[in-house]
Amino acid sequence: MQIAIVGAGIAGRMLAWRLQKLGHKITIFDKEERNSQAACSFAAAGILSPLAELEMAEAAIFELGCCSMQLYPQWLQELPQTVFFKQIGSLVTAHNNDKVELQHFKNVIKRKLGADSGYVEAIAVGEKEQELKQLGDGLYLSNEGQIDPIALMKALQQELSQAQWLDNCLVKNIEANRVVTEQQEYSFDWVFDCRGLGAKQDLPLRGVRGELLWLKAPDVNIEHLTRLMHPRYRIYIVPRPDNIYIIGATEIESEDSSPLSVRSSLELLSAAYSVHKGFGEARIIKSVVNCRPALPDNLPLVKVEQGFGQINGLYRHGILLAPALVEKAITQFQALTEHEKQYAVNS
Ligand SMILES: Cc1cc2nc3c(=O)[nH]c(=O)nc-3n(C[C@H](O)[C@H](O)[C@H](O)COP(=O)(O)OP(=O)(O)OC[C@H]3O[C@@H](n4cnc5c(N)ncnc54)[C@H](O)[C@@H]3O)c2cc1C
Repeated sequence: MQIAIVGAGIAGRMLAWRLQKLGHKITIFDKEERNSQAACSFAAAGILSPLAELEMAEAAIFELGCCSMQLYPQWLQELPQTVFFKQIGSLVTAHNNDKVELQHFKNVIKRKLGADSGYVEAIAVGEKEQELKQLGDGLYLSNEGQIDPIALMKALQQELSQAQWLDNCLVKNIEANRVVTEQQEYSFDWVFDCRGLGAKQDLPLRGVRGELLWLKAPDVNIEHLTRLMHPRYRIYIVPRPDNIYIIGATEIESEDSSPLSVRSSLELLSAAYSVHKGFGEARIIKSVVNCRPALPDNLPLVKVEQGFGQINGLYRHGILLAPALVEKAITQFQALTEHEKQYAVNS
């Protein structure tokens, strides 16, 4: 089939790649230049945390997240480029005065899952991270991981080199079998809308501002993704190779994508410094701001009907959820096309 994908964020690229592997001919539309990193997907820290996210999210996010955690290792093997991916579990901890937050975290997860997940283990943080032993008690979430979203986005782009990629191409309207740009109208067998916040005219989306900092910290040696629970703000530290650490992320109900604020940088950096004094001599190498596309219930949307599909509302879990949502969309798409084939044969 001739299939159009509008929006080349993580949802659009991953869907395009999987459909291309099934033999379909793909056309991608994006309003940005092909190598631009303006999409929200380039901002992500790459945390793959189905369980820890459950503290703030619904059980559906956990289920989809667990499905993605199974798909990621398989799908990454199908990419010729190596994409940094690590699944060694994560740590959740708190300072001594805030230890009550850990019990609260455990209780919330148990209530949402209706049982112990089997993935949460109470530990002394020093058992997993020697340099964080002063933090005392913590939790170890064994099923969690992380990925490099920028490397993933680039690898998917390379895999889509056979696709027609129309960049700098603002789509004004999308309907079943039809894409309308400022210059032209196009027809396809199927059209998928993956525009993130760009689909606001058709969906009740809002942007949720997120900010994070990239640090180079030669004095810090942490392997595990570490979350600090705090009554006012929660931060995570994402270790990347070569003593790079991503400290994030704020969550602000605003579509302002102006540079990182002083307040946010103070909160992020002082929390990181409170976890490990070695961050004191770290260098700030990058600050990142973008807006997460969220629907009113903060849940993702996958909708496929004749000639048309949508993946949106990925909110704060887009990198985690993308494989599961793409798989879901393709299953629905295949069911509809199979039904159409049967109908044609019978009539
Ligand atoms: C600071 C921060 C940290 C995050 N960390 C994580 C994390 O650790 N783990 C995780 O799972 N998620 C994380 N997220 C969330 C994740 O980044 C998003 O959920 C995800 O990127 C959304 O992907 P998307 O493909 O739906 O949208 P986008 O990445 O925004 O892609 C949409 C694309 O559509 C294009 N487009 C829009 N309108 C039009 C139009 N009219 N015509 C043509 N093209 C159009 C855009 O140019 C863009 O390329 C984070 C987000 C932020 C902001």
